[in-house]
Amino acid sequence: MNVLIVEDEASLREALVDLLQNAGHDVAAVADGESAVDRCLAQRFDLVLLDLMLPRLDGMEVCRRVKQERPEQAILMLTARGSEDDKVDGLKAGADDYVTKPFGARELLARVEALGRRASRQESISEHLSFDGCEIDLGLCQAHRDGATVKLTAREAQILRWLHAHRARAVSRGELLEHVWGARSDLQTRTVDMTIANLRQKVERDPAHPRIVTPVKGVGYAWGELGT
Ligand code: CA
Repeated sequence: MNVLIVEDEASLREALVDLLQNAGHDVAAVADGESAVDRCLAQRFDLVLLDLMLPRLDGMEVCRRVKQERPEQAILMLTARGSEDDKVDGLKAGADDYVTKPFGARELLARVEALGRRASRQESISEHLSFDGCEIDLGLCQAHRDGATVKLTAREAQILRWLHAHRARAVSRGELLEHVWGARSDLQTRTVDMTIANLRQKVERDPAHPRIVTPVKGVGYAWGELGT
């Protein structure tokens, strides 16, 4: 399973990374709420382990924002508070389950496995985008159109995922560089333009049809026809 750990306390974060890696999972970790939202929207995780008390954006708000964009994202909340109110608030914010600190390794792993199994059953739906007759499978990195299948690169799939997750607005080239390429300083915005030009040739039909990726003057790019 592909798991994102969101925990600001370094010793606990490292312990969780070790625990899940030893159980055979692919693990990524971040230490604050804003980074958690960014990673969740840029990348596909089977499960997010989310601490409640976090710097920059608390766990409840992270949960709300992620679930708004990706209702299918499985989230297991970790909370130091044991009160009934917090549990109820967490579940209202969209968390799928919660574990109260301190928790045992076996209990946590059991919850992780249970949520992961549920998430993987929904994966085929959540990784599927559809636009003007073009069916895009982000998980398989494939686009189907007019009976033909086109292979996408992982980066192209990530661009589409990011634009779609933020389809209410235009996305700047800098934002794409940061979240899709990982903000490598040797890269330039021209790299984004070239990659998107290739991507559009693969997934779009002739110019008479609606654009899947629309250039937005002075900003960058947007999913579909922005504002429609
Ligand atoms: Ca914390």
